[in-house]
Order: sequence, then structure tokens, then C-alpha cells
Amino acid sequence: MRALRIRPAVLPPECEVLRQQVRAFLAEAMAEVPLSRRVRNWSAADPEFTRQVAARGWIGMTWPRRYGGHERSPLERYVVLEEMLAAGAPVGAHWVADRQSGPLLIRYSPAVLAPRIVPRIARGEAFFCIGMSEPDSGSDLASIRTKAVRTADGWLINGRKVWTSRAHQAHYMIALVRTGERGEGRHGGLSQLLVDMQTPGLAVRPILNPLAEHEFNEVVFDDVRVPADHLIGREGEGWQQVGAELALERSGPERYLSSTQLLLEMLDAADADDPRHAATLGRVVAHYAALRQMSLGVAGMLARGENPMIAAAAVKDQGALVEQAMPDLAHELFGGAVPPGSTLDEAMRYTTLAAPSFSLRGGTREILRGIIAKGLGLR
Ligand SMILES: Cc1cc2nc3c(=O)[nH]c(=O)nc-3n(C[C@H](O)[C@H](O)[C@H](O)COP(=O)(O)OP(=O)(O)OC[C@H]3O[C@@H](n4cnc5c(N)ncnc54)[C@H](O)[C@@H]3O)c2cc1C
Repeated sequence: MRALRIRPAVLPPECEVLRQQVRAFLAEAMAEVPLSRRVRNWSAADPEFTRQVAARGWIGMTWPRRYGGHERSPLERYVVLEEMLAAGAPVGAHWVADRQSGPLLIRYSPAVLAPRIVPRIARGEAFFCIGMSEPDSGSDLASIRTKAVRTADGWLINGRKVWTSRAHQAHYMIALVRTGERGEGRHGGLSQLLVDMQTPGLAVRPILNPLAEHEFNEVVFDDVRVPADHLIGREGEGWQQVGAELALERSGPERYLSSTQLLLEMLDAADADDPRHAATLGRVVAHYAALRQMSLGVAGMLARGENPMIAAAAVKDQGALVEQAMPDLAHELFGGAVPPGSTLDEAMRYTTLAAPSFSLRGGTREILRGIIAKGLGLR
């Protein structure tokens, strides 16, 4: 069995300077934002907030300047992300494009699509959604059936995507589609296409989440035509490309910082003289500290150009465990004593309903553990 080693990353001094700049910005920009919005942090989209973040150079931070990026380090980017998440900033509009769509276009379409589209992402003007899951294909992503066939001048897409977060607010989708036969290896015949969400034939239908909110969608492709140069990377290599995209999707601090507002509310409400409060909250904070070191270690791997897939899967798996336990811990500690309508009550209600999704989105617990086991040579 191989060992999973995540080397702790040390933040260089420029990160501290940046952290103070982000905190000063957030203190002003978030001054009037109520808890009901802060609890949603990266699930909440606010295009105007996104444009303010972009104006400060905090979208596309690590990308080359020729694509509108800022050529800063993954560790500097990490500091911006963790401050945004800890404050509950509404970063959802640009989150996907900044995290994975921009890097994917730069890597796999550096001369055609990236120069056209990535600068708009960096300016906070182009938002993306992820077109992977389908009604019968979630964990078994290789079984997708949405099909693209070549035409004289491009591609014709028919099929259905589901659980597509913020498709109703996105300008583009990166869709994983079937362009050929699966072949013997099961993973052949897949490709990635850039789809403009305004294309005729494309319908976005809301699906309400357990909070009865419109977060994700069903997206139906009915003879949707896409230009030939919207193929990202190479035809038939979609599986390898989507693997690289998923490693980015799982690599950030949002994988353990989604419930920070509940933790902060619990700390505020805690009774310093109650040993149960001290023991429980001390344990949660210790978990957060360990997860932060692991998550920073993943950013360090990205900074060194290493593939963070297994380490990122471990952070996401452990992060979801800690975050999903928090609503129950809050009920145990404060249950009957929470004033209805208080901010603690609000954070508990929201997180209780949101937390079950944390071990589904971005790959389920079982799938992540399979990836970790494979990486360690256990299967
Ligand atoms: C909040 C949220 C946002 C999402 N946003 C998007 C999005 O923007 N774009 C997108 O494409 N998708 C999105 N998804 C979908 C998400 O990626 C899928 O829900 C996830 O991949 C699981 O697929 P599934 O729901 O079909 O469940 P299934 O794959 O049917 O899994 C059901 C259960 O069976 C288990 N299971 C499945 N296969 C195995 C196996 N081989 N071994 C052991 N256990 C197994 C799973 O772990 C799970 O517990 C989102 C989901 C959520 C909850």
C-alpha cells in the first residue's frame, strides 16, 4: 500500500498582505449582507459582487496575462478563496468559471476558445455551468448518452443533462457528450463541447432543491447546433479531460468551508463555562485546523504543478464528514434553547437542509473513497 502524503504548505509573506486587502474589501462589501445570504456563500450568485471581485484582480488570479489573468500563485488564490468563503461572500456567479472552466479552456483550447472567452471570465462577465450528470448517469459518468454528431459546419447535440447548478444564470456550459462508441475501455467516445446557453433548441428547466430554492436545473438539448471550433481539446479524449476538470472541481477550500457561518454562530452562542460546549466545539475547530492544513497542502501541490486528485478527494471526503455532522452537534448543544428567528436558528435550519448534498455534489463519498483506494494501491 502506498501512503497518502500531503505536505503542509507555508504561505509566503505576500499572502498576508493580500489577506488584509481581501478582509478590508469584504468588511465594506459585506457590511449590509444578512446571515440568510452569507450561509449560502458559494451557492449564492451576485453578478455585481462578482464584478467588484474581478475589478480587484481576484478572478483568474493564476492565469497568464494574455488571457486577462494576473499570474499570481495558487497559494495567493487560496487566501482569497478562504477569506471569501469564511465571510460567506456570494461568489457563486463566477465560482465554476474561475475554478475549472477557465483553466480547462486555457489548457485544451489555448489558441481558439481561450483568447475569446477567458478574458471575459476574468472581467466577471462570463459565467459557466457544468454539463456532466444525466438522468441515468451520475457516479457512472462514462455511461452518459447525450450525443453530438458532426455536421458540415459543426456539431448537432441531442440529449439531457440534470442537476446543472446555476444553468439559468450561466452564459456557457462545458458539456460532456458522446461523439463515438464507448469501445473496450468503457471510457472512449466522449468529448467536451463549449455550448452558448442562448443557442436555439436548448431549454433550461428549474429543479428545486430541498430548501425549495432554484439552484439546479434540467437542461434539454433538442437539435442544438454548436460550431466546429467549440470542440475543447480532442475528439474522443473527453474522459481524460473531464478527469482533469474534476480534480480542479474538488481541490478548493469550499470542500470544508461551506458551513462556516454555522460554526461562527455556534461559537458566538457557546457558554464558556459549559464543558460540553468546550469539548464539542474544540473538537470541531481542531478538525477545521487539520482540514485547512490538508486543503492548503492541495494548493501547494497545484503551485508545484503536481496532480492533486487523490489528496483533493481526501479533503473533500473528510470535509463533508465534519460539515455534515455540524447541524446535529448544534442541535445537541443548543437544541431547545435556540430562540426562533435568531441567526443561530437560521444557520441551523439552512445547514440542516443543505448539508446532505455536500457528499453528493462534486462526486459522492463512495466514489471519492474508490479514487483514494485506487491511488493508495488498495484496488
Ligand atoms: C447540490 C448539487 C449540485 C450539483 N451540481 C451539478 C452540476 O452543476 N453539474 C453536474 O453535472 N452535476 C451536478 N450535480 C450532480 C452530482 O454530480 C451527482 O449527484 C453525483 O455525481 C451522484 O450522481 P447521482 O445523483 O446520479 O447518484 P448515483 O450515482 O445514482 O449514486 C447514488 C448512490 O449510490 C452510490 N454509488 C454509485 N455508484 C457506486 C459504486 N460504483 N460503488 C459504490 N457506491 C456507488 C453513490 O455513492 C450514492 O450514494 C450536483 C449535485 C448536487 C447534490
